Amino acid sequence: MIVKSPSQVNVPFFRPSIADAEIDAVVSCLRSGWLTTGPKTREFELAFASSVRAKHAIALNSCTAALHLAVEALGLRVGQAVLVPAMTFAATAEIVQYQGAIPILVDCDPITLNMDMEDAERKLKEFHNSQRFTRQRVKITGVIPVHVGGMMMDMAEVAAFARRHNLWVVADAAHAFPAAYRQGPEHRWVRCGENNAAVTCFSFYANKTMTTGEGGMAVTDDPELAEHMRRMSLHGLSNDAWKRNTGQNKWDYRILAPGYKYNMTDIAAALGIGQLKRSEKMRRQRAEIADYYQQSLDNLGAIELPRVCSDRIHAWHLFPVRLRLERLTVARNDFLSTLRSHGVGCSVHWRPLHLHPHYQKTYGWQPAQLPNATRVWKRLISLPIFPGMRLEEREHVVRVVRETCARYAIAETTRVNGWPKPR
Ligand SMILES: *Cc1c(COP(=O)(O)O)cnc(C)c1O
Repeated sequence: MIVKSPSQVNVPFFRPSIADAEIDAVVSCLRSGWLTTGPKTREFELAFASSVRAKHAIALNSCTAALHLAVEALGLRVGQAVLVPAMTFAATAEIVQYQGAIPILVDCDPITLNMDMEDAERKLKEFHNSQRFTRQRVKITGVIPVHVGGMMMDMAEVAAFARRHNLWVVADAAHAFPAAYRQGPEHRWVRCGENNAAVTCFSFYANKTMTTGEGGMAVTDDPELAEHMRRMSLHGLSNDAWKRNTGQNKWDYRILAPGYKYNMTDIAAALGIGQLKRSEKMRRQRAEIADYYQQSLDNLGAIELPRVCSDRIHAWHLFPVRLRLERLTVARNDFLSTLRSHGVGCSVHWRPLHLHPHYQKTYGWQPAQLPNATRVWKRLISLPIFPGMRLEEREHVVRVVRETCARYAIAETTRVNGWPKPR
């Protein structure tokens, strides 16, 4: 066997952390007689806005909804295009297409996996020289940076890029709560959601850094964007404004636009309020696990670890390692299967968008147009990282990763007993 210690250790990729007080809060919401958007949702929005130092927060049923409302509020429509990283989840690019607009994929930095701003410049220029631009008059109007794994991009750099090219910025911060980075010559700590983007969108999906089961939050400093997103999140009804103006006839709303059904329930918000209170503590627990991995996996020749930057507060939603395939006798998939079969839950973030059937068929992206994402994704494995991960679980992950590296090391001649033969 690979491990001498208890082989029954089975580490999941993620295990949600739900406190008893949060369960109690959900139960009292269920008993309160008010289940959907109401006082709990409002309380959650106010607390969240203040925690990221934003003026307005709109609680929604997903981050995808937040991203969609953001680009809708910014007027994204047919005849427009948006710069989107290739290295992201489906949601970031699909919401552009909801509006009839075109996602222009941008390559990633091969180490941080965040959007490569030099390639963004390149893609913008290429697009302006293309037939689509000159003949069909399609215009690039925005950019959607993603803070991959919870490591923030330099948002001042993104904002400067956007200003130069007259673009709006919507940040996909699905991984980045709580997170921050040091900005400018004064090195001031700026929180994710604090500014620099027109709208910043957070996810409270079950396995994100805090959860409401399903849920999301759009934050902005712009009162008009906030009002528009709020209205569109609930069927485009005039509700709030109408009530305020008349003080009566609360039943008599006005439909101002064909909106969506994206509102958060008070049941979810009750959970969110408690999670928010523990979010910094949970972040520190993840950071501790990241430290432990950094120290225990540091000297492995077959693995590159995520970069740690002193000018970032990392949310550590993910801990993605990059295999050095040239030092291994197996490809990533076999390496990953070995980890899984020895009780280490792991995953890949992500197969880049240009390598999915829809993007190949619809836009004809070629792997060579996004060389870093094409190369790096074949090397990626995300290791388990979640608050409440037990010491024996961390040790098990490290032991299995180390032994898997040793097992498949290219120059290795001795073999650990009981391991499957290499193919
Ligand atoms: C999870 C995720 C989303 C979508 O979040 P939901 O709340 O599930 O809609 C968007 N972008 C990225 C990068 C994600 O990882």
